[in-house]
Amino acid sequence: MTIDKYNFAGKKAIVRVDFNVPLDENGKITDDTRIRGALPTLKKILADGGSLIIMSHMGKPKGKVNMKLSLGQIKDAVAAALGVEVKFAPDCAKAADAAAALKPGEALLLENLRFYPEEEGKPVGIDKEDPAYDAAKKEMKERQKEFAKTLASYADCYVNDAFGTAHRRHASTAVVADYFDKDNKMLGYLMEKEVNAVNNILSNIKRPFTAIMGGSKVSTKIGIIENLMDKVDNLILCGGMTYTFAKAQGGKIGKSIVEDDKLDLALDIIKKAKEKGVNLVLGTDCVAADDFKNDANTQIVPANAIPDGWEGLDAGPETRKAFADVIKTAKTILWNGPAGVFEFDNFTAGSRAIADAIVEATANGAFSLVGGGDSVACVNKFGLADKVSYVSTGGGALLEAIEGKVLPGIAAIEG
Ligand code: AMP
Repeated sequence: MTIDKYNFAGKKAIVRVDFNVPLDENGKITDDTRIRGALPTLKKILADGGSLIIMSHMGKPKGKVNMKLSLGQIKDAVAAALGVEVKFAPDCAKAADAAAALKPGEALLLENLRFYPEEEGKPVGIDKEDPAYDAAKKEMKERQKEFAKTLASYADCYVNDAFGTAHRRHASTAVVADYFDKDNKMLGYLMEKEVNAVNNILSNIKRPFTAIMGGSKVSTKIGIIENLMDKVDNLILCGGMTYTFAKAQGGKIGKSIVEDDKLDLALDIIKKAKEKGVNLVLGTDCVAADDFKNDANTQIVPANAIPDGWEGLDAGPETRKAFADVIKTAKTILWNGPAGVFEFDNFTAGSRAIADAIVEATANGAFSLVGGGDSVACVNKFGLADKVSYVSTGGGALLEAIEGKVLPGIAAIEG
């Protein structure tokens, strides 16, 4: 079923959204992008004359009640965004009465799903090495089914609009779908947009295809890097992983972030790129700092000759130009992960140069996809989000989709 075809009149819809929004110390929302992202789906259901049961996780309460992560804190903001009163169910597994009482056009927000360990379906308080772990996991999977069944019992239909968690087989993202027939479960509008953006990158590649992978570590990106090697013409690797590559090639990197157990992996990536004819672009110079703070002293040095006591925190000017030159000629662009410690204003130049070049390429007709929390934070910080083709709400989910993996949240609906 697709959301456009479905008539929600008189139906109760349970909708998995991603309302995992950042809050300040007073529980005020600091960035409401995720709430705004879900509005087209939520509004369509209300406009049809359906009633809404909204469910989400927030943060990592690890299966325990933690009022600092209560969705009750965002109820009024959700109501303001939707333009209707929103009721609140303080226990997501005991909301049957509240759900049954909903009239067409009304909305109910459930408390944080992850207050229950059943949501993630992982046994708590038991080590993976423990001989009893497998039995505990099996038992938890059974409890997860019961929990999902309870959620499903509240509604006539299920909509998944939470792309950020689509790569997890959680109760609310996948298991719950088993309790609805195929005519009563569907992806929401945000999910549809995300899936289309990924398909655009994977099946409609206009060349040259340039991927920019940054962030702190090579280890967390290795799956996607290896996968991209078969698809891209240019692969820019930047951010903290620069120094693992520099050290692997015999460079001096001072006290820069490094993964000493990934030096062979770095050399292997360089070798594979050569074999596959991929133009691998690594930083040649960097902005080195004498401390990990915004107002540290800095100097521009080669990325493989960083003095002792200094660390590379951003791409240097020569590197920025090299990255920008490659990006500007691209026709398909994927960016995940910053080129430096962009949270510090003095170390944003590398990420800024990448963002500017992507904007220019996009203006010249390239399709550009920016994904992953930190790169999205970058384009937002620079005010450039509306000048790239698509900003994905997914981090891990986006990368797994581009790796070609089937996402459980999508498979549960599309089969
Ligand atoms: P990730 O979560 O792996 O995508 O990494 C994002 C983080 O990488 C951001 O918080 C950046 O501050 C950090 N990062 C980027 N470049 C560096 C660097 N040269 N040294 C340390 N951290 C970095």
